[in-house]
Amino acid sequence: MPEGSYQFCDVSLPVPLDQPFTYGLPLTLRHRVRAGSRLLVPFGPRKLTGVILRCHDDAPTVAIREALRLIDSEPVLSEELLALGRWIAGYYCAPLGEVLRTMLPLAAEIRRGKVWSLTDAGRDAARQLLFDTAPDDPVAEVLRMLEKRPLNAAYLAKALPLADKVIRSLERKGFIVSEDVQTERDPLRAPAERLRVELAYEKAESEVKLNKPERELRAFLELHPGSHNLKDLEDAVRNASIAARSLARKGLVVLRPETVAIRSGPIRARHDLNPAQQAAFEQIRAAIQAHEFRTFLLHGVTGSGKTEVYLNTIEAVMAEGRSALLLVPEIALTPAMAGQFFARFGDRVAILHSAFTDVERSEQWRRIRSGAASVVVGTRSGVFAPVRNLGLIVVDEEHDGSYKQEETPRYNGRDVAVVRAQHANACVVLGSATPSLESRYNAERGKYTLLELPGRIEARPMPAVELIDMRQEFLETRKQATFSRKLMEAVSQKLENGEQVIVLLNRRGFSSFVACRACGERVQCMNCSLTLTFHKRDRRLLCHYCGYAEKVPSVCPKCASEHIYFLGLGSERVEEELHHAFPTARIARLDRDTVTGKRQYETILHDFREGHYDILVGTQMIAKGHDIPNVTLVGVVSADVGLGMPDFRAAERTFQLLTQVAGRAGRGNVPGIVLVQTINPDHYAVRLAAAQDYQAFYEKELNFRRMMHYPPFSAMANVLVRAEKKEVAMRLSADLGFLLTPPPDKLRVMGPAEAPVPRLKNEYRYQFLIKAASRKTLNELLQKLRTFAIEHKWGATALVIDVDPLTLM
Ligand code: ADP
Ligand code: ZN
Ligand code: ZN
Repeated sequence: MPEGSYQFCDVSLPVPLDQPFTYGLPLTLRHRVRAGSRLLVPFGPRKLTGVILRCHDDAPTVAIREALRLIDSEPVLSEELLALGRWIAGYYCAPLGEVLRTMLPLAAEIRRGKVWSLTDAGRDAARQLLFDTAPDDPVAEVLRMLEKRPLNAAYLAKALPLADKVIRSLERKGFIVSEDVQTERDPLRAPAERLRVELAYEKAESEVKLNKPERELRAFLELHPGSHNLKDLEDAVRNASIAARSLARKGLVVLRPETVAIRSGPIRARHDLNPAQQAAFEQIRAAIQAHEFRTFLLHGVTGSGKTEVYLNTIEAVMAEGRSALLLVPEIALTPAMAGQFFARFGDRVAILHSAFTDVERSEQWRRIRSGAASVVVGTRSGVFAPVRNLGLIVVDEEHDGSYKQEETPRYNGRDVAVVRAQHANACVVLGSATPSLESRYNAERGKYTLLELPGRIEARPMPAVELIDMRQEFLETRKQATFSRKLMEAVSQKLENGEQVIVLLNRRGFSSFVACRACGERVQCMNCSLTLTFHKRDRRLLCHYCGYAEKVPSVCPKCASEHIYFLGLGSERVEEELHHAFPTARIARLDRDTVTGKRQYETILHDFREGHYDILVGTQMIAKGHDIPNVTLVGVVSADVGLGMPDFRAAERTFQLLTQVAGRAGRGNVPGIVLVQTINPDHYAVRLAAAQDYQAFYEKELNFRRMMHYPPFSAMANVLVRAEKKEVAMRLSADLGFLLTPPPDKLRVMGPAEAPVPRLKNEYRYQFLIKAASRKTLNELLQKLRTFAIEHKWGATALVIDVDPLTLM
C-alpha cells in the first residue's frame, strides 16, 4: 500500500461477523496507518484491537466512530500473511477477524481488564461522603481511590476486602462505570526473572541525579557489558530490580523480555547422508533452487533418518539467503528437540513453543520478523511465522492430529503450509512413516512428489512385531489378565539385560468405567453424555472431556445398591500392575495425568533417556518420534482401544499409532521386539501394522474410502449445532435441515442426527455430515449455512463448521 494520508480505514475485528468495520482516523493517525497494523477502536461499549485491512478516503454513508490508537507503527501482518488469512477465512468458513487474531502471537502486549471510573454523580457523591462518613468506610474508600484515577477491577478487589460488594452497589446507584480496556503491557512491570537489562548507549551522561542503588547498578553494568538477567543481577547488586526499573524510566538502561532458555539435548553428530537420504535431498534442493512451488511427501520408515534430510534441506535454503519453517506436532517440540536445531544453526533459530509464555513468544516473533532468525521451529501456529523470503516449509509427522486446530478457526496447519508455500513459490516437505491417506493419495495423483526412505539407518532391522491373541490367552489361562504370559516374560528378560521397555495403553485413568452390578448403571458426567473414568491416585471420577470430577459414590446413584464395581483398564492401572509384578523395576508414567505442568513431559522423557527408569508406561504421548536407543521392547496392552470409535478414521489412526509405537523399539544396536495384545488380530489395521506394511494398508483403506465416498474421495464437513437446551438444539438443527432437504446437487447430507457424543460440556449437539464431490460446491453450501445462522441471530457458538474434520465426535 502506498504511503499517504487517509481519512478512513477498514478494520477486521475479532468478532463472529464477517464484514470489516470502517472507522474515521484522527489527524494524528492519518499519515501513520498501514494495512496489517493493529488499531484500537471503540466497538459498542467496548474497545477492541483489530487489524487494518485497507486505508482509504471513501466517505461511508453511515455514521462512524473514530479510531482510538494505533498499536503498531509497522504492519505486523504482511500482505502475504493477510492474503493467507483471507484464504483461511474463506476455506474454513471462519470470521476473518478471528483468523487474523489466531495468526498473531502478540497477546502479551495487550493487557485486558475492566477499569472503573467515577461518573459525574459519583464525583459529587465522593465529595459529600468525605464529610459524612468514617474514614475507613469501604464506600468512601472506593470513591476516594477512584477520585484520584480510574482503577483496574482486579487491583480494587485486592486492595479492599469488600470491594466487590461495594462496587456493585455503587454501580447500581450510577456513581461508577466500567470500561473494558486493552492497553499495551508495560515491560517495566514484568517480573525480574523475565527481564534482561543493559546500558542504553545512545543516552548521554546527563545531569540526572541518581540514588545509591542506581549508581551501583550502572557501575556494575559498565564493568560487565552486555545484557543480564535482572533476577540474577539481584545477587550481585542490592536492589537491582528497583534500580533497573527507575533507570529505565530515565532512559539510562534498556529492559527487554528475557530470551528463552533452551536446554540442549544430546547433540547428534552430523552424518553423511546415505544414498536414499541423498537422493531425496537432491530432489528437494533442485526444486528450491528453481524457486518453484513443489510439495514432496517424504515417506520414510521409523528410524530412516528423516530429520537429517530436513536439516540438510534447511541448510540449502539458508545458503540461498531464504528462510525455512519446520512444523512439528505439539508434543514433539521439546527443548531437547529444539536443541538439535541450535546445534546446527545457532542463533539463526527461533522457537515457537506453546509452553512459552506470551512474552517469550512475542519476543521470538519479533526476532523472526526482524530477519534475525531465519529458521523457525514451531507447532501448528508456527505456519504463520513472519519469516522473510520463505523458501521451505517442512511438516514433520504430517499425519499428526495436533496440526488440526479444534476451535475456530479450525484450520489444519499442514494444509495451510501447502497454501502458504504456493503463494510464496516455496517448497513443502511433508514427512511421515505413516502418511495420511489424503497426502499419500495426492502423491499417487501426482499432486505431490513421493520420496521414499525404505530402510532404517545403517540397515538396522525393523523391529519384529508379534500379535498376541488375548482371546486365546483367556482360553488357555482362564484368567482375564492385563498382561499375557508372553509379555510378562519378555519384560522380565529385558529388565535382566538392563534394557529398557515401553508399554503403551491408549487410555488414561485407572478403570474406564464405574458400574453398578444391580442395575447396570454406569456413572456418567453431569455435563456430557460420557462415562466418567476412575482415577485411583486421587480417588475421583473424572470426565476427560470437560474436566468434571466427583468422589467415587459408595452407593449407586440410580438404585442405591452398594454393589459398585470397576471395569476396564487405564494407564494408571497398568503402571500399578507392573509395580506388583516387577517390584524392583523403576517405572515412569507419561500421560495427561502425570504431565500437568508444561515442562514435565520433557523431564520424564529426559530421565528415561538417561536411564533413570527401566519401564515407561503411557498413552499415545509416548508414541511420537522419540529416539531412545536402549529401548528394545515395546508392549501394547490393547490394540483395540481406538478401533471401536464411531469414526471413519478409526482404522487409520490405529494403524498409525501401532506403527509409530512399534518404531520406538530397536533404534540402537540391539534389535527390537514389539508385542501387541489384541482381541482383533484379524482386523486389517492391526494385522498390517504388525506386518509394517504401509502400502497394503493404504490400498485397503483407500478402497474403503472410495466405496464410502469419504475423503480423499470427497470434500467433507462436519456441521454441529449446539445449545444448552435440548429443544433449542433440536429446533435449530431442524431449521438447517430444511435448508438441506432435498440435498443440493452433487452433495450428500447425513443428518441431522444426534452427535456421537450427544451432550458435551453442558450442551446438546446435533450433527450433519456433508460430503461433496467438489470443494467449491461444499464451500458455497457452508457459506449459505453461515449466512443463515447470522441472519437468524444464532448465538455465537451455536453453529460449528468443521471443514476437513479429523474427528467426528
Ligand atoms: P526418523 O525421524 O526417520 O525416525 P531419525 O531422523 O530420528 O529417524 O534418525 C534415526 C537415527 O539415525 C538418529 O539417531 C540419527 O542421528 C541417525 N542418522 C540419521 N542419518 C544418519 C546417517 N546418514 N548415518 C548415520 N546415522 C544417521
Ligand atoms: Zn444401580
Ligand atoms: Zn464431561
